[in-house]
Amino acid sequence: MDSPSGEAEDVPHSPPAHLAEQLAARLARLLCRFNRHQPPGKRAEWNGEAYVSHCRHCGQPIVRLARGRWRLSDQRRGVNRM
Ligand SMILES: [Zn+2]
Repeated sequence: MDSPSGEAEDVPHSPPAHLAEQLAARLARLLCRFNRHQPPGKRAEWNGEAYVSHCRHCGQPIVRLARGRWRLSDQRRGVNRM
């Protein structure tokens, strides 16, 4: 069977850097689902009880548990009280 070759257009491929960026974004979202969030930069705000910020990936309010460890802040229930 003959297949006529009429189309000879070059389809531009997206650069690999873009692909890596997408992969990183996917990974970040996955971490967010596991409650491992990341603040934008290293700055955080002290609200009187804990360091709070907003996740750079999902944009949700987060609170710092320990150095480099953030999780979602429970704004509905208020801050954790021991
Ligand atoms: Zn997040």
